[in-house]
Amino acid sequence: AAPGGSAAAAAAPASGGHSADEEDRADFDCSICFNLLLEPVTLGCGHTYCRRCLRNALRVNRHCPMCRAPTYVAANEQPANVLLTRLIERKFPAELAARRAEEAEEVREAEADRLPIFVQEGLLVYPTQPVTFNIFEPRYRIMVQRCMEGSRRFGLQTTPASTVGVVVEINSVRQVSVGVLQIGCRARSRYRTRATAAVEEGTGGLLYADIELLEDAPLAGADAAHAQRLRGILAECVNRMLSTLPPTTVRHAENVHGKMPGSVVPFSLWLSSMLATPVAHRMADLATTSTLDRLRRSYAFLRLLDRQAEAAQRAAAASGGDGGGAAAGGAGG
Ligand SMILES: [Zn+2]
Ligand SMILES: [Zn+2]
Repeated sequence: AAPGGSAAAAAAPASGGHSADEEDRADFDCSICFNLLLEPVTLGCGHTYCRRCLRNALRVNRHCPMCRAPTYVAANEQPANVLLTRLIERKFPAELAARRAEEAEEVREAEADRLPIFVQEGLLVYPTQPVTFNIFEPRYRIMVQRCMEGSRRFGLQTTPASTVGVVVEINSVRQVSVGVLQIGCRARSRYRTRATAAVEEGTGGLLYADIELLEDAPLAGADAAHAQRLRGILAECVNRMLSTLPPTTVRHAENVHGKMPGSVVPFSLWLSSMLATPVAHRMADLATTSTLDRLRRSYAFLRLLDRQAEAAQRAAAASGGDGGGAAAGGAGG
C-alpha cells in the first residue's frame, strides 16, 4: 500500500491541494484503532467500529466504547454496514487492500501468542499426544467456540497460575449429551506464559494468557555426544522394562505415549511422559529447554527404581521373603 500511496502523491498536481476524498478521509476511521474501518459494524447507538476492534472491546465489557451505551450485538454475527462498506471500497481501494493484508497478519500473530486457557488439575499431556476432553463448564464451552472461530488452539495448564503449559489443537467437536461437548485434540508445543492477559467478561472466568513457545536449546559439541550416549542407555533400559510387560500393556502405553522416537529431543519428552515420575518432576521436564537436563532427571529416576528393587530383593532374602516394602522405602530416601 505504501508504494501505491506515494505513487498517487507523486502524480498529484504540483499545487498540492487536497481533494475532497482526502479531506473527509478521517470520517472513515475507526475510533478504536484509528485506521480505516475494516468490516464496519454499526451499533444501536449509531457508532461504528471495525468488526475485530468491536469484538475485542466487547470481550472487556459490553458497552459502546464511544458513548458507553450498553450493547447486545454479537460482533461476529452482526452484518457489516453495507453503505459504509461500499463507500470505503469505492473511495479508498488501495488503503482498504493494505488494511486487509495487515489484519490477516495481525490475526495470525495474535493467535500465535494469546490463547484461552483450559485448567485441568494434575493433568499433564505431552506434545504430539492425542487427548480427549468432555467439556461441560460454561466458560470452557465458550472456549471451544472461540477456538473454532479462530486457530482451534487453547493452552492446557494444571493450575490457573501455572507458568508452563501445552498448546492443544482441537480436531473434532461432538455434542455427546445435553450440555456436554467431547473434543478430540492433539497436544502441540510446550509454552511458557509471559503474562496472564485477561478474563473474558460474561464467560464465568475464561482466562487468556500471552504465551511463548518453548523449544529446547540446540545441543552442541560435548553436550550433543553426552545426550546421544544417555539416550542409548535409557532406550535400552526402557526396552528391557517393556519386554517384561504383557503385549496388551505395551500397546496401551504406545497408544497413550506414542512409539519411542529416534531423535533425542522428542525421545527425552517421550520418556518423561512414559515414566511414572512425580508431578513436580514432569513439570520440570516440560518447563526446561535443556534436553540434557531432562534426560539426566529420567536417568536419576531409573537409577532410583533399580536401587529400590535391589534393596527390596536383599531385604526379602535377609528376612526370608517378608517385609521387603519397608526396606525399599528406606533405600529410596
Ligand atoms: Zn478499528
Ligand atoms: Zn455508541
